[in-house]
Amino acid sequence: MSVILITGTSSGIGLATAVHFARKRHDVYAAVRNPTTAGALAEAMVKEPLPITRVTIDVDDASSVRRGVDEVLAKSGRVDVLVNNAGLGGGGPIEDVPIDWAKTLFETNYFGAIRMIQAVLPGMRARGSGVIVNISSVAGRYVPAGHGHYAAVKHALEAASEALALEVTPLGLRVVIIEPGVIVTPIFSKAKRFVAPDSPYAHHLRRLLLMYQRQLTNPTPPERVAETIEEAVTTPTPRLRWLVGDDAQRLVAGRRRISDEEFVADASAATDAEWEALMRRRYGFEWP
Ligand code: NAP
Repeated sequence: MSVILITGTSSGIGLATAVHFARKRHDVYAAVRNPTTAGALAEAMVKEPLPITRVTIDVDDASSVRRGVDEVLAKSGRVDVLVNNAGLGGGGPIEDVPIDWAKTLFETNYFGAIRMIQAVLPGMRARGSGVIVNISSVAGRYVPAGHGHYAAVKHALEAASEALALEVTPLGLRVVIIEPGVIVTPIFSKAKRFVAPDSPYAHHLRRLLLMYQRQLTNPTPPERVAETIEEAVTTPTPRLRWLVGDDAQRLVAGRRRISDEEFVADASAATDAEWEALMRRRYGFEWP
C-alpha cells in the first residue's frame, strides 16, 4: 500500500484518480482547494468505503501547500506518489489574452506543481524513493493556434519535469509526465476564453473549439487517465512520457511527420472545411 497525494480532486481527472487508487486500497490523500465546492468527492466517499482522506491545499498559496503537506506527513509519515493534477484551462490568441490572466495560469499550472514538488522532495530524498507525476497535456507537445498560453504552461511543466528527472533519478526517485488529449471533464465549462470582438484570430479559437467538440463526441473518460497514471507508477519498465487517448497519439505522431514550415502553413487554411481536410490528412482524424 502506497501513500498517494493528489491535487485538484474536486472533479475530473483528480477525482477519478483519487477513487481509482483508493479502490486499489492505497492510502489516498485527496487535496481540494475549497472543501465547500468538493461535493463530488464527498459523494464518492459516502457511496463507497474508500481509504481517502481529504486535505485542503490551494496550490497557488505557499502556506496552504506547506500546511497541507505537513498534515499528510503527520498522518502517514510519508508521500510515496505525488500527482500534480490541479490546473486551469482556457486562454485565447496570444494578442487577446490579458497578461494578468496568463500569469494566473502559470501560478496554478506551473508554480503550483513546483510548490508541491519542493514540499515533498525532502522526504522522498531522505527515503531514496518516491514518484512525482505531473499532469501535462498533449498541448505540452502539440501547440494549437488560439491556445498558446496553455501550451506554453504545459511545455514549461514538461521542461521542468525533464530537468527534475535528470536531478532525482540518480537519487532513486522517479518522474512521470502524463499527456492526455481531450478528456471529458468540467475543465471546458470552467475555462475562461478571451477573444477580442474584432479579433483577426477568431477563426483559430473557433477551430480549436470545433476540435474539442468533435473529440468529445467520442470522449476519453478521466478514468482512462487514472488507469494510465497507475500503470506509469507501477510499471517494471519506467517511462518518462505517457500519452492518453487516440487524439493525443495522433497529434504527436502527425506533428513529428511534418516540418515546422508545413505546420505553420496549415494555420493559413482559408475555410473550416479546408482546415478539417488538413486535420484528416496530417493527423488521420475521421470526425463525423
Ligand atoms: P477539472 O475537472 O476542472 O479539475 C481541475 C482541478 O484543479 C479542480 O479540482 C480544481 O479545483 C483544481 N484547481 C484549480 N485551481 C487550483 C488551485 N489553485 N489549487 C488547488 N486546486 C486547484 O479539470 P481536469 O480536466 O480534470 O484537469 C486536471 C488536469 O488535467 C489539469 O492540469 C489540466 O490541465 C489537465 N488536462 C486536462 C485535459 C482535459 O481535456 N480535460 C487534457 C489534458 C490535460 P476547483 O474545483 O476548486 O476549481
